Amino acid sequence: MKRNVEQIQQRIHDAALRCGRDPEDITLMAVTKTRSLNEISQVLACGIGLIGENRVQELQEKAPFLDTVRIHCIGPLQSNKVKAAVRYADCIQTVSREKIIRLIQRHAQDQSKMMDVMIEFNTSQEAQKHGLTSRDDLLSLVELIGTMDHLRLTGLMTMGPLGGGESDIRRSFSRLFELRENVYQRFPELSGNMLLSMGMSGDFEIAVEEGSDMLRVGSALFAQEQS
Ligand SMILES: *Cc1c(COP(=O)(O)O)cnc(C)c1O
Repeated sequence: MKRNVEQIQQRIHDAALRCGRDPEDITLMAVTKTRSLNEISQVLACGIGLIGENRVQELQEKAPFLDTVRIHCIGPLQSNKVKAAVRYADCIQTVSREKIIRLIQRHAQDQSKMMDVMIEFNTSQEAQKHGLTSRDDLLSLVELIGTMDHLRLTGLMTMGPLGGGESDIRRSFSRLFELRENVYQRFPELSGNMLLSMGMSGDFEIAVEEGSDMLRVGSALFAQEQS
């Protein structure tokens, strides 16, 4: 585990320097879906302070044992899971529907909690993916979230194309970067305050080059280490 973490951190560091960024500005999230508490504690022992869970059920089971680490919900969210997601997650990264936004606001209010959210955008336009596909819809959701006093919009999230070469991946990530510029133009009060959550095991270096602030890495961290 330690070696995986070190190797990934080194690759992030190198990618950042290649494009003139400060490696310190890039957060590495460990994606811990399907991983046991024991595996998670090993990755935390390597200094990682942020984990991501896909299923609210799993989040709910693990969170009580993980009170020193920040946890983000990075999977699709159904209405009946919103309450638990608000309770156990520090941020919900997969917001893309008005109905869910209103529910998050309601539960956050009930729980007297300020809830961080990110908007998920489907930058590769693949049908099987979640997230918004239009810039206008994005701007309307940003506006809506701005009216909710228990929500704080902290960024945009995307997944790169599932199949596809480097240029498709790059285009998908640079699209998210551009969309954030569009949001900043329309809502100058948000300028400089939104993170881009993009980049996974297979494409995190490209994501760094395209401006990612948060990498969500699972399989590469937990891969069997060669000895
Ligand atoms: C599983 C998952 C990841 C991590 O993917 P790996 O390829 O294992 O690094 C990142 N983001 C989301 C939304 C995921 O579901």
